[in-house]
Amino acid sequence: MNALVWFRNDLRVHDHKALYEAASTHDSIIGVYVIDDFNAKTAHGFLKHSEHKRQFLKESLEDLRKRLETLNIPLIVKEGPVSEVFDALSQRYHIDYVYYHREIGDEETAREKDLHNRTSLNVKSFFQKTLLHPDDLPYSTQNMPDVFTHFRKDVERNWKVRKPLPVPSRLSKRIQIQREDCEGLNVIKNGPSSIPCIGGETQGLKRLNYYLFDSDAIATYKETRNGMLRYDDSSKLSPYLAYGCISPRTVYEHIKTYEATRIKNQSTYWLVFELLWRDFFSFIHCKVGNHLFRVGGIQNVDIPWHKNETDIVKWIEGRTGYPLVDAAMRELKQTGYMSNRARQNVASFLTKNLGIDWRVGAEWFESQLIDHDVSSNYGNWNYIAGIGNDAREFRLFNVTKQGKRYDPNGEYVKTWVNEIKHVDESLIYDLPTLNPVFKQSLLTDYPEPMVDFENSTAKWKTIYLKAYKK
Ligand SMILES: Cc1cc2nc3c(=O)[nH]c(=O)nc-3n(C[C@H](O)[C@H](O)[C@H](O)COP(=O)(O)OP(=O)(O)OC[C@H]3O[C@@H](n4cnc5c(N)ncnc54)[C@H](O)[C@@H]3O)c2cc1C
Repeated sequence: MNALVWFRNDLRVHDHKALYEAASTHDSIIGVYVIDDFNAKTAHGFLKHSEHKRQFLKESLEDLRKRLETLNIPLIVKEGPVSEVFDALSQRYHIDYVYYHREIGDEETAREKDLHNRTSLNVKSFFQKTLLHPDDLPYSTQNMPDVFTHFRKDVERNWKVRKPLPVPSRLSKRIQIQREDCEGLNVIKNGPSSIPCIGGETQGLKRLNYYLFDSDAIATYKETRNGMLRYDDSSKLSPYLAYGCISPRTVYEHIKTYEATRIKNQSTYWLVFELLWRDFFSFIHCKVGNHLFRVGGIQNVDIPWHKNETDIVKWIEGRTGYPLVDAAMRELKQTGYMSNRARQNVASFLTKNLGIDWRVGAEWFESQLIDHDVSSNYGNWNYIAGIGNDAREFRLFNVTKQGKRYDPNGEYVKTWVNEIKHVDESLIYDLPTLNPVFKQSLLTDYPEPMVDFENSTAKWKTIYLKAYKK
């Protein structure tokens, strides 16, 4: 009996339950990746897959193809609705079974339903996205606490991480693929390279080993993780986790080995802590479903946001007049990445100073981020927009103070905002409030601030507090 393994956001051969089970049961297997929403747009009209995302995906699939080859498994990349692709392939290659990993989002699960409803194939599915398996939680995902700290404490008391699965053994038989099924990867056009970050399992494992064992950067992660500029300020594992080039359990196992052989400290703990945030948002997504995407968010708060197109474009293009926001938004557009600290600031600014509908920001992130993960992205946006899982009312990031604190020499903003490169570092974060005449003598083409920070904060704080009381 031949089987198909449907690869999705799990582009690896290690710790891959679906592949492992298929290889334990079947003599010959084909790996399949289906491209079916490449030209899809978000509700606000952004292309869902920016060039950076496509490039990372292409690199990841090329690497997956090579790694599957060593197991005697060919990889087919096909365009089209999943069920149609699988029907055609199952007839051509006499396939009886499909194996895959379940996902959480609505669009993702719709594809699974389509597969179950429309094919005559036997389907076997597994859940493997998170560090902790949902069956090992102290409650069902429907009973998840709404606050992260409660979740963390609960799971730390009942700690159970399953061991990563090994790479399956090489299969003895190979299915010969027809010529027309070999070209699919060419559909994905090359895009610009991202941050120094090449897609694929090989590179993901390399980065993991580098961040832990080659550089020992993990040993100071807690101190550096808020940095916005340097590559090793944080692990940069997120794109590999998002496309599933590495599994969170493999990251965890490496951290445990590092702790046993090098050092165990607050920083090594903190990286696991962050992986728990990732789990938290995934399980919250399971719990709340599409409420994650509604304008009022998980809490269904009624905030009168607007969608003024001129303001949106200024935010996207990094022309708000606030150096930290502008640097971060330009970095995102040029590289497909932005640090966590910067993400928090630009999201807070969009919702709590500009008063723009948070979903526009989340959709722009979805379009651009090479680490886009639907649960983490929309969960974090809910949180920062003040309509999600944050227990605190009106948490605001002061983009001037944050810049001074996390980029004291202005190195980060000078890297991304050319117009202010020559400005003295002691003045750079105060540009929005400098005396206009003095400012004119300093700058020629840097924009005026879109809003007054203090006034806009006061305005939106009042609106928020009123909405929370309703
Ligand atoms: C508005 C907003 C949107 C975001 N969108 C995404 C997204 O689409 N995909 C995504 O992976 N992360 C998202 N994050 C979380 C976080 O910014 C990134 O995970 C992190 O910047 C990735 O860099 P890193 O791998 O170096 O992180 P590290 O600091 O090295 O953290 C290690 C890993 O922990 C996980 N992690 C860390 N912080 C968070 C968090 N707050 N929420 C969930 N997981 C976390 C990630 O998998 C990350 O790779 C978002 C944060 C904000 C504020």
